[in-house]
Amino acid sequence: MLLVSEPILGSEEKAALADVIDSGWITMGERVSRFEQAFAEAHAAEDAVSVSSCTAGLHLIMHALGIGPGDEVLVPALTFVATANSVLYVGGTPVFVDIHSSALPLISIEDAAGKCTPRTKAVVLVHFAGYLIDPEPWQAFARERGLFLIEDAAHAAGLGGAGAIGDAAAFSFYGNKNMTTAEGGVVLTRDASLREAVRRARGHGLTTGTFQRRSSRTPIYDVTMLGFNYRLDELRAALGLVQLGHLSEWNAKRKVLADHYRTCLGESCPSIVIPFDVRRPSVHHIMPVVLPASSDRQAVIDHLRAEEMQTTIHYPATHRLSFYRSLYPDVKLPQTEAFSDHELTLPLHPRMELDDVERVVLALAEALGEERVTQAAFIAQTTHSIDLVSG
Ligand SMILES: *Cc1c(COP(=O)(O)O)cnc(C)c1O
Repeated sequence: MLLVSEPILGSEEKAALADVIDSGWITMGERVSRFEQAFAEAHAAEDAVSVSSCTAGLHLIMHALGIGPGDEVLVPALTFVATANSVLYVGGTPVFVDIHSSALPLISIEDAAGKCTPRTKAVVLVHFAGYLIDPEPWQAFARERGLFLIEDAAHAAGLGGAGAIGDAAAFSFYGNKNMTTAEGGVVLTRDASLREAVRRARGHGLTTGTFQRRSSRTPIYDVTMLGFNYRLDELRAALGLVQLGHLSEWNAKRKVLADHYRTCLGESCPSIVIPFDVRRPSVHHIMPVVLPASSDRQAVIDHLRAEEMQTTIHYPATHRLSFYRSLYPDVKLPQTEAFSDHELTLPLHPRMELDDVERVVLALAEALGEERVTQAAFIAQTTHSIDLVSG
């Protein structure tokens, strides 16, 4: 089965895990610090705070920024449920914002402007599919309104510019992301005091960690706040160090595959919309396409599955999930809903080769009956030009 995503794990990861076990120290220690430094450097940041997941990172960011009951946070609905959940964790209210269009499925600045109220405190940007959100308009948007700007950078590990757009950003190392530590994440922020607030809340607000106390004269610690246990551990940090070393090479391979998809889809599946301009910076986390409105998506999924090709949907829109519908039944986001209803995510990971891409596109063209569609389009075009000539 050709999978939508697949982690690359091998002898380097095994050796790194064995080293941690042989060291006798498996919870947060020196490897975690080294991983934080290495991730920060790879993203042109001064420092990073590792966490147990991107979800935990988003929660810590909301917490450290002081967002709470009565505060509204603008979020896209075309994202994983964690984005809106992080607002609810701190007692805030997520306000769902539409995307621009199927061709540009990023949070719409016009819709966001219309949804601002005196209670709006922050906006969360998602670099959907690994495509960078335009920093300048959003920085101006936040500055003019006095809002915090938060990045859900789960799709964006290794993306130049991601993590430095706003006040803080959370990255994910879940198993299907561009690099993985199984579970895990990182928070980046240029604000040193915010970073320390996130770092302290990550470990119960303790003034010293277990590892520090091992090498210190005094076993005393204090607790200064209500914190959480959102720490990373040495095993995951060891995986992260190995994976980070391959990230730019993997992201480069993703780009080659994604570019090949564009070429092949353009030739063989003209009725499909491929979102995003090729020139927008991207780490190609996923390969989303939008099927024609007249097509039967489930039939396409079944056809590809019969050919041993997995496809998925990014995303079932958050506001239409039962839990969120029960909280906010009146939300309507026409562009998000249209995209979500016709989107299909094709296999894309660095283990694939160009002929895998060609096989997927061929199967997709078959499933859509593209030959007929192309012919019909050709006939329509010819008739149109005849009309023009005779008219
Ligand atoms: C994967 C993902 C998350 C959650 O990441 P975890 O590390 O699994 O908590 C959040 N937001 C988006 C957009 C994601 O894709």
